[in-house]
Amino acid sequence: MIGNFDFVLPTKIKYGAGSLKLLGDELKELDARKIMIITDKGIMKTGLMGRLTDLLNDEGLEYIVFDDIEPNPKDYNVEKCAKVARDNKVDTFVAFGGGSPMDAAKGAAVLVNQGGRIKDYQGKDKIGENCIPLITIPTTAGTGSEVTFSSVITDTENNFKFTVKSPYIAAKTAIVDPELTLSVPPLITASTGIDALTHAIEGYTANCTEPIAEAIGLYAVEYISSSILGAVENGNDLHSRDRMMMGSLMGGLSFSHSDVASVHCMAEALGSMYDAPHGLCNSILLPYVMEYNLPDCEFKYARIARAMGIDGNSDRETAEKGIEFIRKLSKKIGLPGLSSLQINKDDFETLAEMSVKNGSNGSNPRAIDKNTYRDLFIKAYEDMR
Ligand code: NAD
Repeated sequence: MIGNFDFVLPTKIKYGAGSLKLLGDELKELDARKIMIITDKGIMKTGLMGRLTDLLNDEGLEYIVFDDIEPNPKDYNVEKCAKVARDNKVDTFVAFGGGSPMDAAKGAAVLVNQGGRIKDYQGKDKIGENCIPLITIPTTAGTGSEVTFSSVITDTENNFKFTVKSPYIAAKTAIVDPELTLSVPPLITASTGIDALTHAIEGYTANCTEPIAEAIGLYAVEYISSSILGAVENGNDLHSRDRMMMGSLMGGLSFSHSDVASVHCMAEALGSMYDAPHGLCNSILLPYVMEYNLPDCEFKYARIARAMGIDGNSDRETAEKGIEFIRKLSKKIGLPGLSSLQINKDDFETLAEMSVKNGSNGSNPRAIDKNTYRDLFIKAYEDMR
């Protein structure tokens, strides 16, 4: 029997090359009077911001720009963003950037009307309906945050990444334009691309998944695995960028209706302790968690391998080849190992403790405890030295 489930999709998706130009219409539909563009300093250095502000100027729309968002967005970034929005009587948010500005915008959209600190809302369904309306415009193909119900924020007092999760923080509209990713440098293309692949794999295999999330996740694997190399090797290859953007969007849809699992539990622990790029952390850990999960995931991992164009004589053999393919893919696209994070081996115990406390720990398809997490960190470290 297929269990009972809800499939809620509160976000309108406007997809396609050149779709950025639809922003004015979408803002008018939301009756936006005072807009805040939320972004980061990296985006400000590209020519992308000028394209966006030109559009708003042409439409005669009033806006301010808030660019004080750091990678792995910090609680104080979100709280400052909400304060500036309140002080300026902003009524609509446009998040423009990768997962960091999009997640910070989602968090600030809660605080403007509902008050308090962002960590008060940690966990599932703690927020009310009255969030500032948000349009997300992703500029990386990775997080899928443009359509997810989550915002991942770093608690800087406890060095811990936590998630705020509710359909109410989802964007009203996601404008998903692959042209905006043409300027992403190769290493960020690689790490964000593996983040998207991890969402697709975990969304498909998490133990709380359902058939729609499975189908979207599996199809995302096909898009991402067949185009990531092209996007990394030639950033101007719009065909590969387009497929990566679609894969990322589908990965986000999949895990948002299912969950992420142990790769993310470990990656978020690493990311908060070392302030390391999220996608890089996922790429380091993905093959090790898959190896651990294999006894409980043979059939699904074989299907993932087949979606990547790999086959073998049995599900087990096909799945093993798929894991090996992913391990080699990360190296081929230039992603370094765990030693690149200048990691301290004494931290493995704490990292394991943080991983087991992560809200998605229970969604891993194979039961996992603190000692196993510690052993997986050690294995990844020893292998990659
Ligand atoms: P990011 O947003 O931190 O951006 C990484 C870097 O890329 C930044 O320096 C940025 O300026 C630069 N950049 C972005 N777009 C660019 C472009 N088009 N051209 C040139 N440079 C560009 O990275 P990310 O991987 O997109 O987001 C990571 C964050 O998202 C993490 O905090 C992670 O935990 C979170 N996340 C959230 C969800 C969710 O559903 N909410 C899902 C996965 C990850």
